[in-house]
Amino acid sequence: MKEAEPIVRAEDVSYTYEDGTQALKGISLTVRAGERVAVMGANGSGKSTFFLHLNGILKPQEGRIFIGGKPIDYSRKGLLEVRKKVGIVFQNPDNQLFSASVKQEISFGILNLGASETEAEKQVEQVMEELEINPFAHKPTHFLSGGQKKRVSIADILVMGPELILLDEPAAALDPKHARMIDGIVDQLSRRGITILLSTHDVERALIWADRVVLFDEGVIAGEGSPEEIFRNDAILKQTNLEKPTVFQIFDTLCEEGILDPKLDPPHRVEELAAYIRQKGTEQL
Ligand code: ADP
Ligand code: MG
Repeated sequence: MKEAEPIVRAEDVSYTYEDGTQALKGISLTVRAGERVAVMGANGSGKSTFFLHLNGILKPQEGRIFIGGKPIDYSRKGLLEVRKKVGIVFQNPDNQLFSASVKQEISFGILNLGASETEAEKQVEQVMEELEINPFAHKPTHFLSGGQKKRVSIADILVMGPELILLDEPAAALDPKHARMIDGIVDQLSRRGITILLSTHDVERALIWADRVVLFDEGVIAGEGSPEEIFRNDAILKQTNLEKPTVFQIFDTLCEEGILDPKLDPPHRVEELAAYIRQKGTEQL
């Protein structure tokens, strides 16, 4: 069987801002449909700039971007096509939410893509239900809390039925409860088969959620691989200033102390680590 076209292919993309900042220096990345990709790296490493390229907001000065196998066409019509397929949820919701009311806000994009009023209404109702937005749907968007704004900005995008969603640090600046709620929504989107690129500093979350971790470092990709390959690679963690996930730290310590067997599969969740320790305890009785 012929392999499906990757949903995204970036080829040697470079971008320098007007003030001379070289934000991207030859980024090449392929993402397959349905993949869950965690994009990580220090502030200023180029994650957001790269995301802005994937739905055509920025145009590479060098290199090319293919969506669904076709190079992005930067005409008005071409960009509309790209934005039907690729939605971006900005890190700061205030850059995204413009309309006075929540419902208007969520309807705007889908109407703009040419849906009829009736069709838009139906989709908007469904997404508001799904993301539990109804309780604050009557509020003006500028009165919403951070977590509510984030849900509305995800709804904005989801309602358009994209194949790929770019989530730029969606849990940043949220309290733990709302951050977990956004995690739940992201899980729901991945289960539905939507391809997701998510930028995050949360190694524990990336370990559990991602199929692949891509590490940005000063405008280049310093490494990519499964969460296990990346988070068990001390050299690359050090280079990109990432902490090793806590479950790995504890697992490694227990292995070094001879309490656990280093040949065990490294646990991704606290529950898995607890099960190893419990098992060991039972064996010693
Ligand atoms: P990240 O999302 O990983 O924090 P960014 O893509 O926002 O990184 O930034 C990459 C680099 O580009 C940084 O050095 C940042 O200061 C710079 N940069 C981002 N936006 C602009 C802009 N509009 N003008 C000039 N420099 C920018
Ligand atoms: Mg950013």
